[in-house]
Amino acid sequence: ENDPRLEGIASAIRVVPNFPKPGIMFKDITTLLLDPNAFKNTIDLFVERYSGKGIDAVAGVEARGFIFGPPIALAIGAKFIPLRKPRKLPGEVISEKYILEYGSDCLEMHVGAVQPGEHALVVDDLVATGGTLCAAINLLERAGAQVVECACVIELPELKGRQKLNGKPLYVLIESH
Ligand code: AMP
Repeated sequence: ENDPRLEGIASAIRVVPNFPKPGIMFKDITTLLLDPNAFKNTIDLFVERYSGKGIDAVAGVEARGFIFGPPIALAIGAKFIPLRKPRKLPGEVISEKYILEYGSDCLEMHVGAVQPGEHALVVDDLVATGGTLCAAINLLERAGAQVVECACVIELPELKGRQKLNGKPLYVLIESH
């Protein structure tokens, strides 16, 4: 990956040490959103990879998957499915719990959002341990969808999140060490 756009994207992401707690190097994509050129290049790189690939649904993980997922979905002619934290979706849902460093969390998806056999792409801003993407994959597969790939702007490769994706391919723009 030596696309000349990647450098501008990487330099537009701010790193905030010790947020939200000591020891975490938080990758803040809000500064990327303030740079229209870098934000557009980010979306374009995903659109170039996924257009014409028969993707029916883009599933975005709350909250930052809601920023990158919809413009990708619109550009490739796919529907957008929000995967939300518990008790946010008003309709009937399926839920998937997952383990965090401390405690656990949960993602929910509306029943009927995806049809059996549809091809889905999972989008989030960042993959760390991979627990969040794994829960997203499980939700879609329980509904009968075929998860084609997971796509994130940033990967923290030291945390080996790729190994948690049950062999699903993961595509990232930037590796952050
Ligand atoms: P994980 O489930 O461990 O792969 O964590 C990924 C989720 O947590 C994503 O939704 C990220 O937005 C968020 N996250 C985890 N670590 C970081 C980090 N260092 N900087 C920014 N967001 C993070």
